Amino acid sequence: MGLLANGLAIPWVTLVVTPMAMLGTVLPGLWQLTAAAIGWMSAVLQFLADLPLAVLWVPQAPLWAGAVGVMGGLLLVLRLPWQLRSIGLPLLLPVLLWQAPQPPVGEFEVLAADVGQGNGLIVRTRHHAMVYDAGPRFSSESDAGHRVMVPLLRAMGTKLDMVVLSHRDSDHVGGAAAVLAQQPQAQLLSSLEPGHMLQALRPGRSCLAGQSWRWDGVDFLVLHPRPEDYAAALRPNALSCTLRISNGRQTALLAGDIEQAQETLLVAGGAPLRATLLLVPHHGSKTSSSEAFLDAVSPSLALVQSGYRNRFGHPADPVLARYADRQILVFDSPHCGAMTWRSVDAQQVQCHRQTALRYWHHRVP
Ligand SMILES: [Zn+2]
Repeated sequence: MGLLANGLAIPWVTLVVTPMAMLGTVLPGLWQLTAAAIGWMSAVLQFLADLPLAVLWVPQAPLWAGAVGVMGGLLLVLRLPWQLRSIGLPLLLPVLLWQAPQPPVGEFEVLAADVGQGNGLIVRTRHHAMVYDAGPRFSSESDAGHRVMVPLLRAMGTKLDMVVLSHRDSDHVGGAAAVLAQQPQAQLLSSLEPGHMLQALRPGRSCLAGQSWRWDGVDFLVLHPRPEDYAAALRPNALSCTLRISNGRQTALLAGDIEQAQETLLVAGGAPLRATLLLVPHHGSKTSSSEAFLDAVSPSLALVQSGYRNRFGHPADPVLARYADRQILVFDSPHCGAMTWRSVDAQQVQCHRQTALRYWHHRVP
């Protein structure tokens, strides 16, 4: 579509818009007409952009496939005999048909995206995927959904079955509208009230303790909130959907922004909390990660999604000390960037800032 759009826009700007704009310095009345000419062009370009398949998204292929694809494209446009040029076609195939690797059946992967101060994770099994929280809103124009989550989902070629929004705070749902718009098939599971703006975009179900499902041999179980928690009109943090993901050998626990009271309830209620990997509740706030909760979960690895020099001081030093006392390895997004954990290699967390480190990158002290 870019070829057609440029074929129209370049002559229009060159031959109509620019001369009229310059003549406008002598005849200011022409500027009205110039503005209209820009308006007509924008309308045509918008129409072209909205056509189905105007933009084709393919998963991000490795460098070699990209290089081979560029060679193929070059061959096709060079003035060579057609027998030679046609060799370019098969060279395009790796980059066009590339599929991102998926976890094996019975295994799962948790990717905590680099969204700053907020939660935004992608959980994938062999044939299924979910987003758990969609990251924060950055400003009135920008949020982690269209800046981070949607590009990530596109790069991985991921089609979501479900979007889980732990609770209504904007550091968890700021990017949700963008993710839901890109993933029209995804179901919504959340603790949002029925009248919430996002429920209008995608009517969803409420998270309720006891809900469970199985994807490719991996079990998902909601541990919190209970029906009476909704009735009690608790603060949003206290309603955070808490999700346990397990394949029987390895378990991950995603706890949103639950605080000490909910942690105590979960421990007292005998919820199956023990996990290999814990998404540190409430970004490492002092209100959460109580001793009893950490002893019950007893993870070996913990992920903190927090912003670099965030104003809340997350993760708090006393909280980090509780993890250190228990020999729990803590990874945080300012140092680690995007964090990937795989159940097949359960004692490792892959830090994107380390694997993709370049000499010009800032080293977070
Ligand atoms: Zn939060």
